[in-house]
Amino acid sequence: MDFDKIFLRFKKYNYTKICKICDGECLRIFAHTAKCQDCGVLLNFPYVEPREVDFLDKEVSSLKYIEAQELWLDWHVKSGAKNHNNFTAMVNFCDAFIKRESEMEVLD
Ligand SMILES: [Zn+2]
Repeated sequence: MDFDKIFLRFKKYNYTKICKICDGECLRIFAHTAKCQDCGVLLNFPYVEPREVDFLDKEVSSLKYIEAQELWLDWHVKSGAKNHNNFTAMVNFCDAFIKRESEMEVLD
């Protein structure tokens, strides 16, 4: 499958909320995940729309370059915020189970 087909498939699947594994149409979406009610797989959602790996090697218009920068900056800002919120929620959840005066090891 070529890049354009994959890109359009992921874009369509994000819009129509279809499982990329089984093409099931019943995703239960929660935060940045989705669980397919047909095959049971847990997915990162929305799907990251793929980018050509040789994008930076190509000569592209300044508009395409700016669009790519804006797309990925937006993705990183949202991803960073979700990671921060997720980590804060985990720490808050554990707060009742840990003692503040003791050390703890955090994996990540
Ligand atoms: Zn599925």
